[in-house]
Amino acid sequence: MTHIATCHCGATRLTIPRLPEKAIACTCTFCTKRGVLWGYFRPDEVVVEADSEDRVYEPSGVNRHHFCGRCGCSTWSQTPDWSAVEENDKEPVERISINLCLLDDTDVRDLPVELLDGRNSW
Ligand SMILES: [Zn+2]
Repeated sequence: MTHIATCHCGATRLTIPRLPEKAIACTCTFCTKRGVLWGYFRPDEVVVEADSEDRVYEPSGVNRHHFCGRCGCSTWSQTPDWSAVEENDKEPVERISINLCLLDDTDVRDLPVELLDGRNSW
């Protein structure tokens, strides 16, 4: 069953194929200051519909963090999936992180939350 996540003004609409088993609360300074909860997906699993208000913040030149220029919501991110490197000794594949707080039909508080120690990991 697909789920829809939208920013507050509706300019960005993200369609995901299912709910993730857990929400990831990353403790890095950027995620903490934004207050997001992530769900991870492959790029081919997510449909992104966004208008010209889609903005990108690239603090490191590696990760692309999208947000809505109209309402300010953090919407989704494009990052390497470093776990593929650790597990398979391969080049990282792209991962899409969806801000689960934007889900329209799901209370994100119903999902188990796993802390990710981003503050000490990068
Ligand atoms: Zn918006």
